Amino acid sequence: MSQSRQSVALLGATGSIGVQTLDVLRSELERFELVSLAGGEHLSELAAIAREFDVKRVAVKSETHRATLADLLSSDVTIVVGDEGLEELAREADIVVNAVMGFAGLPVTLGALAAGKRLALANKESLIAAAPLVAKVRATPGAQLLPIDSEHCAIHQCLASAPRRPGYPDVRRVLLTASGGPFRGWTVEQLKGATKDDALHHPTWSMGAKITIDSSTLMNKGLEVLEATALFGIDVDRVEVVVHPQSIVHSMVEYVDGSVLAQLSRPDMRLPIAYCLGAPDRLDHGYGRLDFSTPLTLTFEAPDLDAFPALTLAYEAARLGGAAPAWLSAANEIAVEALLADEINWCDIVPVVAATMDQYEAQDLDSLASLYENDDVARRRARASLKK
Ligand code: NAD
Ligand code: MG
Repeated sequence: MSQSRQSVALLGATGSIGVQTLDVLRSELERFELVSLAGGEHLSELAAIAREFDVKRVAVKSETHRATLADLLSSDVTIVVGDEGLEELAREADIVVNAVMGFAGLPVTLGALAAGKRLALANKESLIAAAPLVAKVRATPGAQLLPIDSEHCAIHQCLASAPRRPGYPDVRRVLLTASGGPFRGWTVEQLKGATKDDALHHPTWSMGAKITIDSSTLMNKGLEVLEATALFGIDVDRVEVVVHPQSIVHSMVEYVDGSVLAQLSRPDMRLPIAYCLGAPDRLDHGYGRLDFSTPLTLTFEAPDLDAFPALTLAYEAARLGGAAPAWLSAANEIAVEALLADEINWCDIVPVVAATMDQYEAQDLDSLASLYENDDVARRRARASLKK
């Protein structure tokens, strides 16, 4: 094997992004070496991945999972546990793919950047909740933050021609595209009857359960507004959401001279994953290649803010700053968990988040301890709102 292979940690290996990352890695074995994995459940799948790629370092959630996994793997595989385990693996590899779901991905984001590694970030929740802390560790020499989230990967590419001045003064606005989800065009009245199963059928993307639900409420787009401000340092008033049902234009940047740059492809997450692994090189795959020889219609419309108030909540959280985005994301995780467990209806999700945000009092996020404290309080308030 060539000496120049880059080592890759794939944390959240059994999920939707994880599996698609494995697909990219399988076709790039000369360029990348998968050296570590993490998974929250599906331990037999995790073991199968470890065997296929001959991975010797694996992180799991608990001692029970460690014992179960140890029985499935040879004794030369080291199994680490919990947040410390995730952080340890995130500090070791050249490229760290954070494909964990939810706030649980925080140790990966902070660990990889603090160790000066390239973080290929799918896990938006950690960045949104911890934005001020992430901003500090991003300054570590060698640290690189590349977004796998397709819209942000598009914006990153569209910003490549912008002069590198803080806050991008040459950018008039970032246009974040949204498919509109399964309920695009539904009225407020119709949405009262929306079910979990309706919400789990996304029209253009196949993804994990949590983000699929987030796409149905447009909370995913709200979280992505916060993600864009944190990633690019662009103030929230220059981030606009545009509904684009075909999911071909993954986002756009409008410069002050009126030029609009966009990135297009068929919806296929392997494209942004491969971009983040290979950058600045482009890997020769053609995932999501477009066929311009057949008619292609691209449409754009404004989001319906009355039907989808999650967007407004996200803008408010962005303007509040401090711990507000962490509260929004934590309350949303609790509400989505409750929907998936059939404890609430679809139309209760955003009211639970709104009721939690009503209790937020302005505070700075200056330490990891204050972040965990805020996350915990927001989750408790959201759980209390579930019962009302
Ligand atoms: P998923 O639910 O399919 O997979 C999540 C992965 O994280 C699984 O491997 C799970 O076992 C693992 N995990 C969960 N808790 C863990 C823990 N405590 N320790 C170790 N591993 C743990 O989710 P997904 O759809 O792949 O999404 C992952 C992240 O990527 C989310 O933040 C999501 O918002 C983001 N994202 C996903 C897509 C997509 O197309 N699926 C697109 C953009 C962004
Ligand atoms: Mg996205």
